[in-house]
Amino acid sequence: MHRLLPLLLLFSLTSGAVFGDTNPRSTPAVPKTLAALQTQTGKQFFVAQRGSLLIAADLPRQQFDYVVNGIVACCQKALERTFFTTRLTQPVTIYIFQNKESYARGLKKFFLLDPISPYGHYGHRQRYIVINYQTGPGTLVHELVHALMAADFPDAPIWISEGLASLYEQCRVEDEGLLGEANWRLPELQKALTDGKTVPLERLFGSDAQNFRLMDESLHYAQSRYFCLYLQEIGKLRAVYQTFRDNVKDDRFGVKSVEMVLQKTLPEIERDWLEWVAQQRWSKK
Ligand SMILES: [Zn+2]
Repeated sequence: MHRLLPLLLLFSLTSGAVFGDTNPRSTPAVPKTLAALQTQTGKQFFVAQRGSLLIAADLPRQQFDYVVNGIVACCQKALERTFFTTRLTQPVTIYIFQNKESYARGLKKFFLLDPISPYGHYGHRQRYIVINYQTGPGTLVHELVHALMAADFPDAPIWISEGLASLYEQCRVEDEGLLGEANWRLPELQKALTDGKTVPLERLFGSDAQNFRLMDESLHYAQSRYFCLYLQEIGKLRAVYQTFRDNVKDDRFGVKSVEMVLQKTLPEIERDWLEWVAQQRWSKK
């Protein structure tokens, strides 16, 4: 069926959701069966399982069904078809809280945590996602990309991990999979371009998580996102992702893979990309 689920994720995420981690010694064990998840969350939460994903949410029934089938299962299927050949084999537990109050309450009750992001985070070691759904479905898709990518490309450097995750914060579903669209991160990138303050791609690619987040974090997100969107637009995103993943041992930051797939040097690619960035348009709807 064409456009099985016309999913338009329109929302404003004002800061990157977090690929976080918590101290496993201080975090209670995360349930890894549906029965245990229902017992933990109680009757205010609906629970469901789709493949290796366990989902609990304190949303109304109809909205819960939409989130489970129309967002989580639909995006997982599209992402696995496009990018991820190594599938999740171990369960990932997803908690979706309907607003910031229930999010804060749930984090405290189930994780003994205060929110480390107003949006949500993915806990790598215990394989869980927590989401404040008030910030919109894009947050959920962002963290879902992290959880799925962890199985397929565990050594992914942060530029492609956050680039791909933030690309699908706003997207639509087409026959060929998820398609990222321009979003609110564009003006910051275009301003940096006008001011001559973009970070050279070679430096962006080589950033570790600490440097990525230390200074100019939101510009780093914007550059990574719009580099992935550029690759999507020229039809090379899948090839770059898979070539890089398969060669990461010899190409730690992806420069060689990007150059090989695009058949150009990185400075040439950077010049073309920035020209493309200057032409992009986005307006608040
Ligand atoms: Zn992220």
